[in-house]
This record gives sequence, structure tokens and C-alpha cells, in this order.
Amino acid sequence: MPSLIFRKGLDLKHAVAGMLADNYHSDIVERIKAEDYTYRADRLTVHLAREFGFCYGVDRAVDYAYQTRERFPDRAVFLTGEIIHNPHVNDKLRAMGIRFLSDAGERVDALGPDDVVILPAFGVTVALLESLDRRGCTLIDTTCGSVLNVWKNVRRYAEGGFTSMIHGKVWHEETQATASQAVQYGGRYLVAFDREETQLVCDYIRRGGDRAAFLERFENALARGFDPDIDLQRIGLANQTTMLMSESLEIGDMIRQAMIDRYGAESLDARYQAFDTICSATQDRQDAVVALLRDQVVDLMIVIGGYNSSNTANLARICAASRPTFHIADPDCLTSRDEIRHRPIGTKTEVSTAGWLPAQGPVTIGLTSGASTPDNLVGAAIARLTAFCA
Ligand code: SF4
Repeated sequence: MPSLIFRKGLDLKHAVAGMLADNYHSDIVERIKAEDYTYRADRLTVHLAREFGFCYGVDRAVDYAYQTRERFPDRAVFLTGEIIHNPHVNDKLRAMGIRFLSDAGERVDALGPDDVVILPAFGVTVALLESLDRRGCTLIDTTCGSVLNVWKNVRRYAEGGFTSMIHGKVWHEETQATASQAVQYGGRYLVAFDREETQLVCDYIRRGGDRAAFLERFENALARGFDPDIDLQRIGLANQTTMLMSESLEIGDMIRQAMIDRYGAESLDARYQAFDTICSATQDRQDAVVALLRDQVVDLMIVIGGYNSSNTANLARICAASRPTFHIADPDCLTSRDEIRHRPIGTKTEVSTAGWLPAQGPVTIGLTSGASTPDNLVGAAIARLTAFCA
């Protein structure tokens, strides 16, 4: 039996609104927004970025998850994996009895028509969707409209004979789902993480090269059967929605120039297409933190969000380019006025740093949070900072 799919919620928005507010709202954050995004207490000043925290896609996904629990209290409800990259939110959903198919012991092939499965904001691969559909599960699709927009462009590339080059993280669920769309529509894909990887692609476009070495270098980032001698002749560029805009633009320019160098400017339209698929929420948060850094004098920046959250990591990269920056997963990382736990930019390990907060005199902190971080965590961080500076 094919799946029943809910794509626009379950008509229970009002029923769960109170619960969502209890779990994620912050009075102190609302007050700071009303006071020109600035907070002062004793020697502490905090400047909040003017855009931060839950984006429209995350807001909707979490809302639908709560509605699902409300609508199906007696049925097993699953998430394919983390609904968003925030441990606090995922823990809340676990506490509500929602199970994660990514957990040990859970299996997609054990699901059946009585089971309800929530698809996350960043979407799922075509193969997983087909598998769930075959099992007749009830599906709650929270895939964000901005991700659907990426898929639309990738499909267009595939149908037009262009290889989709995705600026993204090959291990990220959204990029894997996007790549699967290219294959579904008969196309090829290649995932490039950064400028360095893009340079390798550009070198091959310009001069060809060692085919085997290229395939080995991009082993996990290519469609099956990818042939760089053929599949790099026509490229359509797309981005994971949460990448750094400035880097995506540079990557687009690099590919464009390589195509011109190899085939001439007159062939460019037939060889290269690009659509900016970074979502507006990501863009707004990046713009807001750039504005904060430009307009305020801050001693240090704190960026709050899951360590595996792509958009949070990119906010931290922007900050770290000009200020001491601490990317923390949650307020508990603010261990004391002497010690902070954080993940340095570009690393994969959390470390502790001593002496992070000026011990005396006025201290001004810039604060932002990723698109999957609820306001209550920002509020709790501000409360800790207040206590440290009292
Ligand atoms: S970060 Fe962008 S694409 Fe991802 S859920 Fe939020 S709005 Fe949608």
C-alpha cells in the first residue's frame, strides 16, 4: 500500500503552540530584541545579531514533529535521523517518545503501515523515500521549501545534460538528498567542499589529467560511473543551502573561468549554469553577523549551535576571521568565568579554554546562533554571562 503523506502539517498548530513556546521561547531574548538587540548588566554588554536562531524551515519542521506526536499518540513515530542539528531539540523529541532510525537497533526494513515517519527539514534521499513508501508508512514531510528549490535546479541540470556540481558537505544529509535527485533524473553529480577541491576540478577542466587519481580523490563525492573526461564538460552549480555565501560565489567564478579558458567565452552558456541556492535564512544570518562585526566593537564573539550544524559553523568562520570566537554547542559550555568548552573553527574536537573572559572592567560580547538553535538556549547563555560578570 503506498504511503499516506502529509506535507502541510496536521491541522494541530494551535494545539502544540503552547508546548513549543514552553520548550523554546525566551523572555529575555524577546526583551533584548525590543531594546535594539543590546543587553547591559553590570560590566557586561551583549550585542545580539539582528537575525539569529530558528529559521522558517526549522520552525516548521519542529512544529510538524510536535503535531505528529499529538495526532498519533498511540502509534510508533520515527525520525529518519536528527530532525535538525541541535542536540537539545533532538533530546526533547526523544523524550516525547519519538524514535530515531539512525539509532542503534532501529531498522527501516522493520517498519510497516502502522508506523509514522517524519522526514527532516533537509530532506531524505530518493532511495530512502522509496523504501519508506514501499513499506506503506505514514510520512510527515517537513522538507524545507528552500531545499526543494535546490532539487528543482538539480533536476533541471540533469534534464539539460549538465553535471550538478554541489558546493556542500558530502556527509551532510541535505547534500546526499540533493545528489540523489540528480541521479534520479538521469544526471551526474560531484560534491566539492571548498576552494581547494574546486581548484582540482578546475585544473581537470582546463587540462584534463590523471583520470584515476581524480576519481580516487573524489571517491565518495561522485555519482557512480562518473567520468571526468565527459562529465566535466557541462556543469551546473548548486549549493547546499547553508554554505558560506562568499565562498559559493568564489567557487562559481572559479568554474566559470575554467570553462572559458577551456572552451572560450562564446561557449559559456552551453557549458556552465549557476543558480544561487543558498537559502535566504542562511544569507540573512550571515549578513547580520557581518553587520554586527562592522557596527559594534566587541571583545569576543559567541556562536551557539550544534557542532554538526553547517550554518552555525559558517557563522563561526565569519566571526573568527576578525575576532576571538567561541563556537559553543549549548549554554552548559560556558562552564565558568574562567573556563569555556568550545569547538575551534575548522576542527572536529571540543576543547576547553581558560581565561576566555576578561576578568575585570567592561566586557562587550557579540552573540549569534545557528538556524537550528532555539531562543531558550540563547537566553540561558545570556543568563550565565550575566552571572559571570556580576
Ligand atoms: S537553513 Fe534554510 S534550507 Fe535549511 S531549513 Fe532553514 S530555511 Fe530551510
